[in-house]
Amino acid sequence: MVQNARENQDSLKYCAFCAQEDRISPGEAYWHRLHQSSIVQVCPKHRCYLSRAAGKRHFSVRLTLAEEAIPITEPIKMANPDEPYDALLLWMARQVEWLLGHPDAKIDTTNLSAAYTQGFHSNGLLTSGGNPDLTRIREQFRKVIGKHIEHGGHFNSVYHANSDRSLNRAIHFLEGHPGLHLLLLYFLGTDVESLPTMSKYCHFELGPWPCLNLVCEHHEKDVIHEYSFRTDTHGAQVATFRCLCGYIYSRQAPDFEGESRLCPHRVLQTGNLWNREFQRLWSDSSLRIPEIARKLACSIAHIRKMISILDVPSRKPRRKRRQLLVGMSPFDEKRAALRKIIQTFIMNNPHGSRTEFYKYAPAEMNWLWKNDRDWLESFLPKSNKWEGKVDWQERDRGYAKSVKSVKKDLIASQRSTVFPITIERLKIALRFQPKNTQRSYFPKTNKALQAAAETPEQYRVRKLLWAIENSNSELPPTFGALLVKVNFRLEMRSRPTVAEAIQAAKGLYEKRRNSCVAAGEEAAA
Ligand SMILES: [Zn+2]
Ligand SMILES: [Zn+2]
Repeated sequence: MVQNARENQDSLKYCAFCAQEDRISPGEAYWHRLHQSSIVQVCPKHRCYLSRAAGKRHFSVRLTLAEEAIPITEPIKMANPDEPYDALLLWMARQVEWLLGHPDAKIDTTNLSAAYTQGFHSNGLLTSGGNPDLTRIREQFRKVIGKHIEHGGHFNSVYHANSDRSLNRAIHFLEGHPGLHLLLLYFLGTDVESLPTMSKYCHFELGPWPCLNLVCEHHEKDVIHEYSFRTDTHGAQVATFRCLCGYIYSRQAPDFEGESRLCPHRVLQTGNLWNREFQRLWSDSSLRIPEIARKLACSIAHIRKMISILDVPSRKPRRKRRQLLVGMSPFDEKRAALRKIIQTFIMNNPHGSRTEFYKYAPAEMNWLWKNDRDWLESFLPKSNKWEGKVDWQERDRGYAKSVKSVKKDLIASQRSTVFPITIERLKIALRFQPKNTQRSYFPKTNKALQAAAETPEQYRVRKLLWAIENSNSELPPTFGALLVKVNFRLEMRSRPTVAEAIQAAKGLYEKRRNSCVAAGEEAAA
């Protein structure tokens, strides 16, 4: 907490009274670690505002001696504990002081979440589901803390009154400025000092908690004295309880009344004792799975999961299938009947296609396709979706041949807008959009497309020529300006073929410009 709270600031802070005392004993003023925390603005001992030493803090930290930087006397502003804002500053300073003085205090997210949960609970800020009611927490937090934040500006780096996200994330322990957690504690009327001593196991009814393993000798006896706690990614608060027998279960927090005390939220691990009992029950083949589940107080799904995890020997099937005893099954009967229908139809139409069969008997065909595909495939005429219908090479040659003329047409039809002629544009103009599976059918077309598509330079040249031709009066005063206008970048202009084209365009430009100017003069005269 404290480490993070020490942020970059312009200069070191000190308490003038502390410095006076230090000069008497130990005989020299020094920088106090407590005073450098960004959330400490007053001296908790002397109840006065801290002063700032002149000079920048970084780099000079080691060089600036407190003895030299702190003046002997200076005006000091006292904090007034009756002022709400000063009271908050004093409270903050005392929290940091306590934390620095107790580096071994075991404060973690479990303590903190317990404090929050209790605080929200006693302030009526939990939803009916037991989760923090974020909307109301934000409202009230802003009411209580907001005015302080506006007042002094000391907490600007800690909490922005118009950003609620940081508050939500702090409540869920995803992140949060230590100062923000302190503000939350202040808001809830508690403090850091009570965190370690307060029971951190207070998301539920009073502990200890029972083992819920039906075969454990401690079943439903209160033997579990602590639990681990976390907030999962969805913001749900989950506590995990483990018994010595190896049985681990979780409960959703909070549950102050203990309603879910004896019904485990979720079994995470069953442990050796339970597993042995399960294996014993499983080997008794007269017991069916639901009965085993009942005897072990778990779900059938859990039993099935354990069967695969524990790799228990499989049981013999209980009953033999009826069909073996009674001749033909209903399935076989239906299949035989449908086969017969299709067979007769094919015999009557020896040259029919699959489509025709589907039209004739859709339901029968579908059923056979689903349940008897091998037979159907072997019996039907060969599918003629692709083979023999299309001459792909012919099609490829045709496309490849027309690429050039299509490009010409494209340029002619789009002169007024001058779009780049990309492969995609060419494909569209050709109406050539092969599916992925057909790509390899068009080697010549693909080659022709690659060759015909415009490079960025070719496109710029075309645009340049078009601009010279089509903008009569708005021709820019210099050729350079025109190049910029058509977005002809420097690195493009230097390439040899491009340079030639630009020279040619420059000639055209000058001709056109001269004639424009002449026309203008004539009109003026
Ligand atoms: Zn002091
Ligand atoms: Zn147990």
